[in-house]
Formats: sequence, structure tokens, C-alpha cells
Amino acid sequence: MSAVVTQRTTGTAPGAAVPSSHSSTAAVAPVPFEHEDLVLHRGSRSGRYVIVAVHSTALGPALGGVRLWHYSAATDGIRDALRLARGMTFKAAAAGLALGGGKGVICGPPYSPSGRERRDLLLDFGDLVESLEGRYITAEDVGISPSDLVAIHERTTHVTGLPPERGGSGDPSPFTALGVEAAMRACAREHFGSPELAGLRIVIAGLGHVGEKLARRLIERGVRVAVSDIDPDKRSVAGELGAEWIEPAEELVAECDILAPCALGGAIDAANLPLLRCEVVCGCANNQLADDALSESLADRGILYAPDFVVNAGGLIHVYREIQGYSESHARKLALGIEGNLEGILAAARDRAVTPLAAARAVAAERLANAGAGQAAAA
Ligand code: NAD
Repeated sequence: MSAVVTQRTTGTAPGAAVPSSHSSTAAVAPVPFEHEDLVLHRGSRSGRYVIVAVHSTALGPALGGVRLWHYSAATDGIRDALRLARGMTFKAAAAGLALGGGKGVICGPPYSPSGRERRDLLLDFGDLVESLEGRYITAEDVGISPSDLVAIHERTTHVTGLPPERGGSGDPSPFTALGVEAAMRACAREHFGSPELAGLRIVIAGLGHVGEKLARRLIERGVRVAVSDIDPDKRSVAGELGAEWIEPAEELVAECDILAPCALGGAIDAANLPLLRCEVVCGCANNQLADDALSESLADRGILYAPDFVVNAGGLIHVYREIQGYSESHARKLALGIEGNLEGILAAARDRAVTPLAAARAVAAERLANAGAGQAAAA
């Protein structure tokens, strides 16, 4: 199919601050409609639309979180689901996981629903997930908490990321931090000729769940770590860790070997890119580049950009283990495997004279094509 959905995003998470990627003025790129399933259903309890987009199940069941968000029109929710589901396919494929890509959207009211109203929305979404008989597996995303997943789980078994007391795997951030550190070793080998991180200066922009764990790991290994956060309370955390504190306004322009964006998306844009004074960009934040074309500009400046969806796959690996029933040690091994995976991508980029982002997309596309060929042969 070739239809293209080009609506502008006009949504806000009910009751939440509006991230820049969701501001009503954000120009949104067209979404190619190449998905296996797009299901839109008006919930019988809530009367509101719930949506699942399954982009691909070529490599395995389509995994992707569900977001509870207010959209001014259901078509905006559809566009978001289609865009995010496609991204999940490439993320799982680039990580070498037997997972496809999907995404759920609950079109909520323009405020944070609570009580019966919230529960009705979650149960309606659970019914929709169950109707797909395991082709789509849901997880947490914007506007959804672990306790919301417990409610969704009342209507479907196809849920990951439940709280540990409900048999889930809990907080993914330790795995994400482990994977980012592994990715940094691959970058250091490629750019500095050695995977050794000790002695390098690394700036971590965003001292949240992942950033703090990453900082701790790196400091233990003798890295000179500097951190920043827009939350001034995090300054004391930096002190406890023994990390240098940088004011948020300085985080991108600080001189360093590796810059690790670990806060919100869109950290690097056309305006601040010329000001960067790092050799490598490698962090956990999703969608670090305001525009994919900036990966070319970074390469032109001699800065190695490690594609975020390869670097931060530790979180996905963490929930993947719930599906596969893996032990923690096996999942750790997979997260550490991000180093070798990224090395292969960086080598392919060098060989083909393309950016690491283009090489990562090509690797993912190749894995998907091979899976498609395998399925055709089996049929
Ligand atoms: P978090 O909310 O715990 O932490 C984000 C931190 O960034 C907060 O402390 C916030 O105050 C700070 N912050 C926001 N804007 C900032 C700015 N401009 N400069 C400096 N600090 C800023 O989030 P997290 O779970 O640590 O995730 C961080 C990023 O990584 C997000 O983009 C998330 O989507 C992505 N990610 C997280 C995981 C995971 O396992 N948690 C997995 C994959 C990707």
C-alpha cells in the first residue's frame, strides 16, 4: 500500500507537559503506510478510540508501548501509532531481536483521566490487544504507568513490563545503562582506536533513571564524568557520584570525548550542532537528532554519531526477556552484545561510506528482508 498520512501532531498527554516533539506547531514528516495491521476501535466502555498499529511481524510478535494521549482528532492518533510502530520494527531488527514493531494509542480526554474513566480506557485497550491474538504485545509508554499495565493485563495476557510483584521484569534502566556503556566501547574502538573508556571525558546530559546508572558505571571504570540536569536537585546526586556538575545550558557545548544525551528527544538540532565540542555522540535518549539529516552534518564535522535506537536497545532487551523467558544473565549477555552489534554497524558504515545511521537502517532492512525470504521459503 502507498497511502501517506500527513497530519500535523496536535496532541498532548492528558495532564502532562507537552514535549517538544509533540507541540502543536511541530512539523511532522509523512508516514509511509506499509503496515500489516491498523486497528481503530471505539471502546464500548469509554466511548473513546483505542488504536493498535502493527508494522511488521516478520521477525516476531510486534512489541511496542501504548501511550495515553489527547489528540484533537483520531487521525492524529493513527498517525502517531503508524510512525511509532515503524520505528519499533527497525529498533528490534537493528538489535537482532526476534521481535516485530507495533504501537498502541489510547485517545484520551484533554486532562489526566482517573478512577473509573481511566480504568474504562485501559480495559477497552486491553480488549483490542487481546483481539489481535498475540500479534501485538503491549508495554509502557508516555502517559502509562506500571499500574495501568496491570489493569490492561486484566483483559489480555499480551503485556510486558508489569511490576515484579505481578511477574514482570520491572525497571529496564539498569539494562539500558549497561547497553549504552557497551555501545560507548564500540564507539571508542572505532574513533579512538581502543575500546578503553578509562581516562576519557564523558558528558552525560540528563541524570535520570538511565543517566545516573550510566554515570555510576563509568566512574567505577575510571572515566572522567561530567553530568547535567535541568532539575537542580540532581546536583547533590552528582556530588554523591563524584561527577563534575555542568549547568544544562553548557551541556552540549562542553568539551569532551563522548557526549551522552540521556534526557528528551531532539537534543541536537541545526542550531546547536555547530557548537558541539565532542568527538562522539552516544547516549540513551530516543530520537536524539531533531532531524535524521543531521547525522550527515555530524559526520561532516568528524563527529561519530551512534544511532540512538541501536545504543538504547537494552531497555527493549529487558522486556524481550519476559517474552522469551530468559534469565537475567542471558539478558545481560544480550545487552552487552550491543557492543558487537554496533561495531558491525560502524564497520558497515565505513565500508559503504555512509553514516552509521544509514548503515543501521540498512542492517535492519536486511534482517527484515531475510526474514521475509525465510517465511516465503517455509511457505
Ligand atoms: P528520566 O525521566 O528518568 O530522566 C530524564 C532526566 O533528564 C530527568 O532527570 C530530567 O530532569 C532530565 N532532563 C530533561 N531535560 C533535560 C535537559 N535539557 N538537560 C538535562 N537534563 C534534562 O528518563 P530515563 O528513563 O532516564 O530515560 C532517558 C531517555 O532515554 C529518554 O529519552 C527515554 O525515552 C530514553 N530511553 C530510556 C530507557 C529506559 O530504560 N529508561 C530505554 C530506552 C530509551
